[in-house]
Order: sequence, then structure tokens, then C-alpha cells
Amino acid sequence: MERISAGPHHTAYKIGGLTVTSLRDGYVDMPVRRLRQPGDKPFGDDLPPQVPLFDGALRLSVNAFAIDDGHEITLIDTGSSNAWLPTMGLLPQALSEAQIAVDRIRNVAFTHTHLDHIHGLILPDGRDGFPQLSRLLVPRAELDMFRSEARLSRFHDRAQPLDPGQRLSANIETIATPGHEIGHTCFRVTSRGETLLVWGDLMHVPSLQFDRPEVAWEFDADQEQARATRLRILALAADNAYFVAGAHLDSPGVGRISRTETGFRFEPL
Ligand SMILES: [Zn+2]
Repeated sequence: MERISAGPHHTAYKIGGLTVTSLRDGYVDMPVRRLRQPGDKPFGDDLPPQVPLFDGALRLSVNAFAIDDGHEITLIDTGSSNAWLPTMGLLPQALSEAQIAVDRIRNVAFTHTHLDHIHGLILPDGRDGFPQLSRLLVPRAELDMFRSEARLSRFHDRAQPLDPGQRLSANIETIATPGHEIGHTCFRVTSRGETLLVWGDLMHVPSLQFDRPEVAWEFDADQEQARATRLRILALAADNAYFVAGAHLDSPGVGRISRTETGFRFEPL
């Protein structure tokens, strides 16, 4: 996997016969108390100094990923449009910077149905983000959650269930990774012997959670399950030399993982 182009809001890579583009939707600042040690215990003065703070807050990148096999483009997550904070919603700019015509995006799949992943279906002015959308895949366990988002009502009936182990195309299959949310899903992208795992919200604060994967997130639907899933997927990626792409890894959020004595280490690509 190698980098082929980059700009302020996008970075594109070749992986085998595919082009994968990291698209920067922006960032979100979160209070330190979102980080949870085992037992749902927040950090105080014991927050490790390696975690950078911005006015006392954690800063999370928000990224989506486009996978182009030459015939069609599958977009995994869509950013948050104008549904949350003004520090997000840059996905349309990122796509235009990457020279990805929105009309070519016919498949959209979600890792899970939180705000910062689904609302890019609709632009701030109310138009469809992807006018030629033909397949919208939502983790089956979260279809009801998706259909409770009033802003996205025109998509409620178009959503199709996404299941563990489902093959979206010759190159993309899903892996069930519940914990952060009940239907949280990773996408394994393979071409010519290289593999990339698009892992959504497997972690939120990379400066801490590679080193200490036991640290969870206050918004995890099930912190214990999220912790176990994180360990399983980190081991899978490290032991098989997978590349990984994370929704909240620092933009562009693509790299490799290795094991350390106590945890894992991320090497950005
Ligand atoms: Zn998220």
C-alpha cells in the first residue's frame, strides 16, 4: 500500500488494484472524562502526558474512506454534514479535492449509526450527498437506530441490512466488531495479497489506546465488549500485517500496527 496523492482534506493510496482515499470530515473536541479505565473510571491527574490536549479537550479526527475498484466506489461512513458541530462537515470539500465525483459513489456502508458517520447522506442545503446512490448498507442490529434519525427520513426505507461476513464486492467483506455500538462493523479490503481493515470507531484516542487498549470510551454501548473487540482486532491486524484505517485516528488515519511489550504501536503510512 502506498500513498499516491494528498491534500489538506484527503490522502489517496494504492492497495493492489484499488484506490483507497481517506477523506477528512473535520474534527471534534471531547472532554477527557470520555476516556474510561476499567470499571468505568475516568482519568484525573493520572492522564498520561502523551495525550495531547487542546484547551483541555481531546481532539478526535473524523475520517471517512472511499474504495474505488475502477468500476464503482464504495464509501464507508459519510461524516456528519451540518448535524453536529461546525468543526465537521468537510466531506464534500474532501471529495472534490480528491477529484472523486459524487455521482460515482453508488454504494454507501456504515460502520455504525452515530451522528459523525451517517449524516453526510444529506448536504447542509438539504440535497442528497450522493445523487446516484443505489445501495445503502446499515448494520442490521442498528437499522432501528438509523430509522429513528428524523433528518435522514428519506433514506429510512432505502437502508438495507448489513450482516457479519457479508461480501460487498470481490474485494470487501465485513467483520462483526460490536462494543462501541451493537452493530459496529469493520470492513476488510483485500487486493493482490494486501489487506486494509477499515475499522470505524475501534478506538477514539490513538495517542492512548494503542498503548493501553483497555481504556474505553464513555459513549461505548458496552465498554467491556468494546475492550474485548479492540484487543481482538488489534491482534488480528498486527499478526497479519494488515494496514488499518480509522474513523478517529489522526487524519489521514492509515497505517500499520505492531505489538509492544504491553500493548500495540501505530505506524502511520
Ligand atoms: Zn465516531
